[in-house]
Amino acid sequence: ICECIGALAFYTATMSHLLPPDFVVRVQQDSFLGNPLLEALATEPPTAIRRNPWKQPADLPVDRPIPWSENGFFLSERPLYTLDPLFHAGSYYPQEAGSQLLDAVLKKLPLPAEPVILDLCAAPGGKSTLIASFLNNKGLLVSNEVIQSRAKILKENLTKWGATNTIVTNNDPADFARVSDTFDCIVVDAPCSGEGMFRKDHAARNEWSQNNVDLCAARQRRILMDVWESLNPGGFLVYSTCTFNTRENEENVAWFARETDAEIVRLSLPFAKPDRHETGWYALPNELDTEGFYLSVLRKPEGNVAKRKPAKNPKLQLIKDRSFTEPFITVNDLSLIQWQDYVFAVPEKFEEPAFHLHQQLRVIKLGTELGEIARKGLIPHEALALNPFIRSSNLPTIELSREQALSFLHGDTFPLEGAHGFQLMTYQNEPLGWIKHLGNRFNNLYPKEWRIRMDVK
Ligand code: SAM
Repeated sequence: ICECIGALAFYTATMSHLLPPDFVVRVQQDSFLGNPLLEALATEPPTAIRRNPWKQPADLPVDRPIPWSENGFFLSERPLYTLDPLFHAGSYYPQEAGSQLLDAVLKKLPLPAEPVILDLCAAPGGKSTLIASFLNNKGLLVSNEVIQSRAKILKENLTKWGATNTIVTNNDPADFARVSDTFDCIVVDAPCSGEGMFRKDHAARNEWSQNNVDLCAARQRRILMDVWESLNPGGFLVYSTCTFNTRENEENVAWFARETDAEIVRLSLPFAKPDRHETGWYALPNELDTEGFYLSVLRKPEGNVAKRKPAKNPKLQLIKDRSFTEPFITVNDLSLIQWQDYVFAVPEKFEEPAFHLHQQLRVIKLGTELGEIARKGLIPHEALALNPFIRSSNLPTIELSREQALSFLHGDTFPLEGAHGFQLMTYQNEPLGWIKHLGNRFNNLYPKEWRIRMDVK
């Protein structure tokens, strides 16, 4: 026994020297975490993905399903996603298993049948694509990211995921004061000290300090306060981090419930570990084979929703004559909106909130962009290619080999049989994007900023 304890102490000491010393001391003194967490952080993290239920399944080295996430799977090895055309088609999203607890939580909340959900700190889009799948193209998802460069990546990932009912905004949380009583659920996946990243990202270990934990905790409180007004009475706020300390987790939840009228919601989540105060749950790497995740659910008391006048938004116009879009889309329950020379589709039911949000916030994705209105008709947008809900099934299509698909995604042109005009490029029957065929050659319309940069030959 002594030998075993000695070996364990030696192992912990050897592995923990890579972790910040103050972090190691804190964890060792915390009976909720202790050495088992330090040992787990010294091992390789598992690889996990979440499938897109609306697209062709990719051929991935699946090990086993993630029991708490409907579309989640652990993989036996980490593939090179960049070289899989179906990754670019939005067939799946690499997402660590702990974060996928959100799926189990959303399924437990008594939300309206078509909820309006805000994902406030959303880039690069892991939680947003999960929420989009949960909504199954019903309701409305507003995904926000404050940092502009990251908001672009969020837009790309949501466009590839393919739902019609998604709006992307690029705003500071404080801006949401302009849209009070709007959301049935808000997800705040807050910027945090990232202790859950230590397992995979050694740089995160160097950035950690107790001072940074305190700064993050204060920023999280500001973010929660900023967005609370925009939650509908009776609505739910899901607060999450990927860190293990009480300051950013249990203490922030308790502080917020004290400072506001928020009620802490207690759910039964069979896989997660109740937190130190039983006000939330952890997915700990030593217990669930995850990187590390925390979440808690708060509810605003029922009350009256402030009525607002229907939004007038002179920048947007409803399109009455839709004939020019008809070859491209199957229109059902969609409002077509013109913004400058571009046309967007949003679910008819959410036309008013879409106008309102566009008026009040910096919207960078308004539903699904169908294309640009040109003299000779519509120039189709990649969002239309990637959206299985509204894209017409009669579009001219060219099925590509894997080599050709990678070359297309790289932005190349190559010899290809095909009729004149816009053609949808598919791989394993899953659309990737558009070309304009000119007879003997084609123009590659795949967006420049999405192109694969590595050598694909
Ligand atoms: N939810 C994302 C996902 O699942 O892919 C991950 C979000 S990450 C934990 C936190 C996000 O908050 C980052 O994208 C970061 O840019 C953003 N952020 C940073 N500072 C912020 C602030 N002051 N207010 C709101 N968001 C902030």
